[in-house]
Amino acid sequence: MTPASARITLADAVLSFQAPEETIQQRVRQIHHTVLTHSRYIRSANYSVIHPEDLELMFKAYDEGFFDGHCQRALDGRKLRFRLSPRMTKAGGTTARFVTAAGETFYEITVASSMLFEGFGQMDRRISVCGLECENRLEALQRIFEHEMVHLVEQLCWQSSNCAAPRFQEIARRLFLHRAHTHKLITRRERAAQSGIRVGSRVTFVFEGRPLTGRVNRLTKRATVLVEDPEGERFSDGRRYRKYYVPIVHLQLAVA
Ligand SMILES: [Zn+2]
Repeated sequence: MTPASARITLADAVLSFQAPEETIQQRVRQIHHTVLTHSRYIRSANYSVIHPEDLELMFKAYDEGFFDGHCQRALDGRKLRFRLSPRMTKAGGTTARFVTAAGETFYEITVASSMLFEGFGQMDRRISVCGLECENRLEALQRIFEHEMVHLVEQLCWQSSNCAAPRFQEIARRLFLHRAHTHKLITRRERAAQSGIRVGSRVTFVFEGRPLTGRVNRLTKRATVLVEDPEGERFSDGRRYRKYYVPIVHLQLAVA
């Protein structure tokens, strides 16, 4: 099969894909089972350890289960890399195409690993990804991965991909029963808001054995806390502050 015909076969396969809902759910559950059985890291559906290798395992399982191996063939020797990002705090995943200085093309699928870890605590609210409710972390990971697989397929077949566009949504719906292209994962911002910590909150934390009190200036993976300090940098309110980057879990709301 030539690279061009592999791409055409893949495009035909996704555009003509038809399967009853139960068949799709069955295949998705089979992949869930495959990951749990074959991963060297994921030990349970609410796993606490994951490795980029697991994404590769999922790619193979989805490519076989839904695309008859056509994705691998359409890649035509170009590399597909997998990455877990603890820093992505809004998107559940991304798929990108890169061209190296030497003119070599490769693709990269990234999954926001930390955002998955934020959810699925015992007291947490329900979580949906791509419009489907997820019972556990691995289900949410699968939904994100399916979404990224559609991005990859679109890039391979049509050189561009847009999950806000009808073609993407049509494919995601027929192949994976997705009803939306968004997620309702628990973001750090929400997690922090839940504990009452938000931008502007007065918080305390321990730094090198000393308790410090300051105000939250920014919230991402960590909070940026400004603590008044005569040696610090001058801010627009005329006072001097020193900046501390503190993991949100280490912060406590100051009493007053
Ligand atoms: Zn997308």
